[in-house]
Amino acid sequence: MDLKKLASALIPDDDLISADKYEEIYPRRSLAKGAEVTRLAPSPTGFIHLGNLFSALADERTAHTTGGIFYLRIEDTDEKRKVDGAVESVIRSLKYFGIKFDEGAEIQSDLNFYGPYYQRRRAKIYRTFAKKLIEEGRAYPCFCTEEELDAVRAEQNSLKLVTGYYGKYAKCRNLSEEQIYSNLRQGKPFVIRLKSMGDVNNKSVFHDAIKGDITVTENDQDVVILKSDGIPTYHFAHAIDDHFMRTTLVIRGEEWLSSLPIHIELFKALGFEAPRYAHTSSLMKIDGETKRKLSKRKDPELSLDYYRSAGYYPEAVVRYLLTILNSNFEEWEMKNPSADWRDFKFRIDKMSRSGTLFDLDKLSDISRTLVSQLSAEECFAFLKSWVDEFGTPSDKLHFKDEAYIIRILNLIMGVGGKKRRKDIERAEQGVRLMDYFFDDTFKPQYSYRFDAETVNAVLEKFAKLYDCSDDNSVWFSKVKTVAAEVGFCPETSEYKKNPEAWRGSVSDAAEILRIAVTGSPNSPDLCTIMNILGKERSLSRLASARV
Ligand code: GLU
Repeated sequence: MDLKKLASALIPDDDLISADKYEEIYPRRSLAKGAEVTRLAPSPTGFIHLGNLFSALADERTAHTTGGIFYLRIEDTDEKRKVDGAVESVIRSLKYFGIKFDEGAEIQSDLNFYGPYYQRRRAKIYRTFAKKLIEEGRAYPCFCTEEELDAVRAEQNSLKLVTGYYGKYAKCRNLSEEQIYSNLRQGKPFVIRLKSMGDVNNKSVFHDAIKGDITVTENDQDVVILKSDGIPTYHFAHAIDDHFMRTTLVIRGEEWLSSLPIHIELFKALGFEAPRYAHTSSLMKIDGETKRKLSKRKDPELSLDYYRSAGYYPEAVVRYLLTILNSNFEEWEMKNPSADWRDFKFRIDKMSRSGTLFDLDKLSDISRTLVSQLSAEECFAFLKSWVDEFGTPSDKLHFKDEAYIIRILNLIMGVGGKKRRKDIERAEQGVRLMDYFFDDTFKPQYSYRFDAETVNAVLEKFAKLYDCSDDNSVWFSKVKTVAAEVGFCPETSEYKKNPEAWRGSVSDAAEILRIAVTGSPNSPDLCTIMNILGKERSLSRLASARV
C-alpha cells in the first residue's frame, strides 16, 4: 500500500510543516543539569480540586527546588466539558495558595516559547505527527461504528477477555487498500488508531519516581490517537505535548498508571525520548469504618473553592499538603518553626506510594496555629481578602476602617500581645466575632439573669458614672460602686465567702453591662470594648438594653 498517499488522503492538510521542523521550533531547554520541567495539565472544567493543588505543589516544588520550569497547559480537547473562565480560575486559585507558574496559558511571561499552551490550538502539530505515523505504517484509519465497538466489547465481556481494540478484534487494522478508499469515498467517518507492536506477554521493570520499580506489561491496544473530528485523545496529546514542551518529569494521578504502557509505546513510535513519570497516590479520607477516595459528590472539602470561601488560612492548606506530600516535612517544620515553607527540601521520591490520608481536622489545627501567630497587619490582610471576596456588604464597609479593625483585632485575637486566641481557623469566624463592634451587625438578644428593676438600675447608674477615658481600674471601681448601690457584693472575695448573704456580686453587675454592650455574657475585656466603641455608642447601648 502506498502509505504516503494514504496519509494524504486521511489528513489532506497541505499547510503542515515537516515533523523535523518542530524539533527546531521547540528545542531542548537550556537549563542546568538536574533542572526539572514540570507541568500542571488540567481540563478547563471549572472544578479545581485538592488533587490539583496536591499535584501542583509537587510540580512547583520539584521545578523550583531544581532550578527548573513549572508551566500550565490546558487540556481542552473535550469541548463539552469546557467552562468559561476556568483557566483564570485555576491560575487564581493556585495563586491564592502561593503557587505560581513560570510559563503557560494566560501566564504573563517572557518564557512562553513552547506554546500554544491550549491543546485545541495545537491541532496542526497533532495532525503532522498522526500523518507521519500513518506514512510509517504505525497508524491506520478505523471505520468501526459505536455499535460495532459495543458489540465487540460485549463479546469480550462474555468471554471474560480484556476489552478493547487489539489482536483479532482490531478489525480495521487489516483493511485492504480498496476497502479503505471505498470507505473514504462513501464518506464514512473514521478515527486514526495506533498500530501497536506490543505483546502483553512481555513485561519489564519501569522506574516511577514515586512508586519505585514497577512491572509494566507491554501495550497491545490499537488506541485511538485522533478522533473523527481530528481532535487528539489524551494519550496522543500527552506524548506530543510533553515531548515538545520538553517536560522532564510528568507528575500525575495514579489513575493514569494503567495507561502507562500505551504512553511508553507512543513515545517509542514517535521516536521521542519519554519523560520520567511520578504517579501520585489518591487522596483518601476516613468515612466511618472505611477509607475511601475523596469524592466530588460527597466531599465539599475536595473543591479548592471550599477553602477560599470558608476562609482557611491559605498557607495552612499548603503546609498541611506538604506534611502529606513528604512525611519529613513536619519534623523539618518543628526544627524551623519560623522558616518559609519554600525552604523545605521537597523530594518527589519521598512521596507516599499508596493512598494518602487527608484529614481536615489536622488542616484546621494548622490553620488555627498559623492564624494565632499573625501580626495585627497580617491578620487584617487575611480577613480583608476574605471579606473582599465573600463578605457581606456591611463586612466590606467595616473593613474600610483599618485602624478601627486593628484595634478590635488587638483585643479579640490578642494580636500583638502574649495571650492569643487559638480557636480561629477560618476568616469567617474571625469576621463574625467582630459583629458587635458595628451598629448594623449588632443583633443582641438580651437575656439577663436578674429582674428588670435590677438590670435597669445597673445600666442607668453605670451610664451616669461612665467616662470613656477611664482606665481599667477606674472603670472597675465604678462597676463596684454600681454593684454596691443595687445591693450586690462589691468585692468578689467577700462574696465567695458567703454567697447566700448577697443578691449578686460585682461580676453579676459586670455581666449585665456586658450583655448590654456586646449582646452576650461572654466577651473579651469589657472596658476595652467600650473604649473601642467610644462614649456615644457605649452609652446608647446601655440605654437601649434596658428592659
Ligand atoms: N488532563 C489530565 C487530567 O486532568 C492531565 C493528566 C496529566 O497530568 O497528564 O487528569
